[in-house]
Amino acid sequence: MHHQLGWLGHIIRMPANRLPRKILYGQLHLGQRSAGGPKKRLKDKLKITPKKCGIKPPSLEDAAADRPSWRGLSQKGVQLAEEERRKQCLAKSQRRKLAQSAPATSGPAYTCPDCGRRCKSRIGLYSHQRTHKQ
Ligand SMILES: [Zn+2]
Repeated sequence: MHHQLGWLGHIIRMPANRLPRKILYGQLHLGQRSAGGPKKRLKDKLKITPKKCGIKPPSLEDAAADRPSWRGLSQKGVQLAEEERRKQCLAKSQRRKLAQSAPATSGPAYTCPDCGRRCKSRIGLYSHQRTHKQ
């Protein structure tokens, strides 16, 4: 991410007539991909990375104009994005844990009269009880 932002800043600071800059700008302004379309390429990532790092497209140019401040912004942005990613990972794993422990404590439980096993649904209990009939 940091490298992407560094490269992006480099290109934004290029003179407007340089080809890489023209191509990038065409993509940033007009680039719209169909849902489920082609795989993300580097230049697609270049659109997403600043967003993830809290750098909004309109301020991109001003931000990149000054190299030292762009570096600082990139560094902070990458840290921010990394924290956000970590938070989401944590939230995801907590949700997973919760979902695992939930069936025993919430919702209507269908308890097997033979062995006391709790099933999540009536049909689940039914098919479980068939194992006792053999
Ligand atoms: Zn049973």
